Amino acid sequence: MYLMSNYIRLSNRYRIANVKAPRGTNIVICARGPILPGSISTAKSRCGTPNCVCKASPPKLHGTYYRWTGVIDGKQTTKTISKQMAEECKRRIKHYRALQRELERTLERSLANAPWAEPQ
Ligand SMILES: [Zn+2]
Repeated sequence: MYLMSNYIRLSNRYRIANVKAPRGTNIVICARGPILPGSISTAKSRCGTPNCVCKASPPKLHGTYYRWTGVIDGKQTTKTISKQMAEECKRRIKHYRALQRELERTLERSLANAPWAEPQ
């Protein structure tokens, strides 16, 4: 038992000396601020009221309405939000996408440094 643990310790030391990122090194990816998945869209619409300006010629549509669309609890979801809220959502979505790109770059580096690419 003693010999076995001693062997493991030695082999770990050998491994750490030969790789760029030793086992147990944390990879930290930081968002630039609060994040939000999904996307923002805008729409103008017609209502159901007869003789409304939205049915005139040319029509004057209602809106602009701002919407967030994304997945909540596995379901495609759309929420109507204020213009101000839409701006904040866009800011958070931008942070989220930057975080995703950073993760993708980190994954590319992980392939370049995969165990089979390490010096033996
Ligand atoms: Zn209308």
